Amino acid sequence: MIRYHPSLEILEAYARGALNAGSALVVACHVHGCAVCRSEAAILEDAGGAFLQDTTPAAVSGDALERIFTRIDDVPPPSARVKAPGFLERFSVPAPLRRQRVGFRRWVTPNIWFAPVHVRPKPEALTYLVYAGKNTTLARHTHRGQEFTSVLYGRFSDESGAFGPGDFAQTDESVEHAPAVMSDSECLCLISADAPMQLLGLPARIIQTMTGSLY
Ligand SMILES: [Zn+2]
Repeated sequence: MIRYHPSLEILEAYARGALNAGSALVVACHVHGCAVCRSEAAILEDAGGAFLQDTTPAAVSGDALERIFTRIDDVPPPSARVKAPGFLERFSVPAPLRRQRVGFRRWVTPNIWFAPVHVRPKPEALTYLVYAGKNTTLARHTHRGQEFTSVLYGRFSDESGAFGPGDFAQTDESVEHAPAVMSDSECLCLISADAPMQLLGLPARIIQTMTGSLY
């Protein structure tokens, strides 16, 4: 069951197309699997992006939901279709991600890899997949700017809670954490960040420098 959703402010920005392409992709992957946010986004889009001040249920025009579905399930023409890399085949990747080109994965430890997502049009944010195996804790870090996460597979936990399939997380420079994957499941997430994470601790920073500070 999905427990964590984008804020109304994020959904409103998504509905009026104000998010950068990477952030919009992460929100779209959540919205694709979340009926609550899908109808919320449809209402917001119908309202022209205005915040709804009224608490009474708003009527949604007949095609609002359809427009949201079209946006998140948009299928590119055959020439633009891309083949997902083999390492993603065992995961059920949501439709909005399937039409993006995923680059080579880079293992940073025996249990953790990152892979860039080449979002079209060119995003203003870094967009990437991160995978962590069972019993793995990511290096403690904070953020430079805003970071959106959609859990695509498995679960992780940090100081703010436990996140499972479909959950959405938003962090920024005020959050310092070390996401951990427990013994019951590996985890795959899609992330969009304004800048590479800021690792805390010298060993982790050395690894980050050696791997090109891409993430
Ligand atoms: Zn939701």
